[in-house]
Amino acid sequence: AKLTNDDVRNLAKELGVKFIRLQFTDIFGILKNVAITVEQLDKALDGELMFDGSSIEGFVRIEESDMYLRPDPSTFVVFPWKPRDGAVARLICDIYNPDGTPFEGDPRYVLRRAVREAGEMGYTMNVGPEAEFFLFHVDSDGRPTTVTHDRAGYFDLTPVDLGENARRDMVLTLEQMGFEIEASHHEVAPGQHEIDFKYSDALDIADKIVTFKFVVRTIAQRHGLHATFMPKPIFGIAGSGMHLNQSLTKGGENAFYDPAASDGLSKDCLYYIGGLMKHIKAISAITNPTVNSYKRLVSGYEAPVYIAWSAHNRSPLIRIPAKRGASTRIELRSPDPSCNPYLALAVCLKAGISGIKNRIMPPSPCNRNIYEMTPDERKEHGIDSLPESLNEAVRELSRDELIQEALGEHVLNRFIEAKKIEWDRYRIQVHPWEIEEYLTKF
Ligand code: GLN
Ligand code: MG
Ligand code: MG
Ligand code: MG
Repeated sequence: AKLTNDDVRNLAKELGVKFIRLQFTDIFGILKNVAITVEQLDKALDGELMFDGSSIEGFVRIEESDMYLRPDPSTFVVFPWKPRDGAVARLICDIYNPDGTPFEGDPRYVLRRAVREAGEMGYTMNVGPEAEFFLFHVDSDGRPTTVTHDRAGYFDLTPVDLGENARRDMVLTLEQMGFEIEASHHEVAPGQHEIDFKYSDALDIADKIVTFKFVVRTIAQRHGLHATFMPKPIFGIAGSGMHLNQSLTKGGENAFYDPAASDGLSKDCLYYIGGLMKHIKAISAITNPTVNSYKRLVSGYEAPVYIAWSAHNRSPLIRIPAKRGASTRIELRSPDPSCNPYLALAVCLKAGISGIKNRIMPPSPCNRNIYEMTPDERKEHGIDSLPESLNEAVRELSRDELIQEALGEHVLNRFIEAKKIEWDRYRIQVHPWEIEEYLTKF
């Protein structure tokens, strides 16, 4: 059962909690904290704690800056790493305006809105994320490098693998915080890891992704390593994705499963894929929101480039894992862990249910290796590509009314404004590649 405010009060007392971090994210998915002492817990639980919203990037302007935090009691958890006196707990919060209405710029509210719309149609979204990350050494000044633990043999005087130890510690810590870890393994690239936890409903998973990243970074630090969720830290080796396994249930049954269909996939499942594929270019601005995200979406590293789906191979944007019955799901392979998970799940769900509403049939599945097809063959099969840059993705977002509606005007405008600035700052840089290419040639 979900924790109530009373449960939180009792648990805080029982567990000797001294400090509570009230958490929320800005529109870029960056975790924010307002720390309070346990004496203020009642006030906090009553939603009476205020903060200055203008101090948060992309939130509000100074004139309209009073915001209220309403902790969600079901998110109460005590951090397993304890300071000397008094435990530290956290509560994830929804953000409200002074007049008691939900704040439109709160990413958690954006996701709640999409979840509610699906709910009105009888659907609940379930998500299983697969977040990848790198563990890097820090230099003697404590600054992160891009030297990985398994390559840095000569830094490493101990025979044990620092990265494997850190990952084991991450898994144990996450388990103590209520995560059910399903898999944890070294990924393809040196220093690259993946930890997968059990699927759950969209809001719970978005909360968990934010918590997950925070825990991974904290534990890495305790092992003298830097964990990064940057999508492509090193050219020439695999980047880090965050595949999102998605399904809908209706009346407690998996709505993507149809035992009577030859491939076991229901109409709803096909329409959901159709909706995702139709809107994926604008969705990319949200699921792949950085300049660096697009350095990952290139061929050769198991990241998708082309807009296609398949039940049989891993190269396309959407793969259908073999499991059927209650586990029937689609795996969207484009998202990366630099995204704001609340917004990413909101836009995916919005596109998927719009596919169902409008009966959008996806093109037929592509079971060939798309990377081996010639541009002409791709054209013949009607296979389009994902945006090649943040600039292109943001332009797509400015053209896609459905995805705009999913975000709401407030988040949309602040997001586009910020991303245009980010792109312009990048655009005027002189890259080392250019020096290498042109300095002596001209
Ligand atoms: N790292 C790959 C990506 O960028 C995924 C690798 C895998 O999980 N098969 O998406
Ligand atoms: Mg995986
Ligand atoms: Mg992986
Ligand atoms: Mg996967």
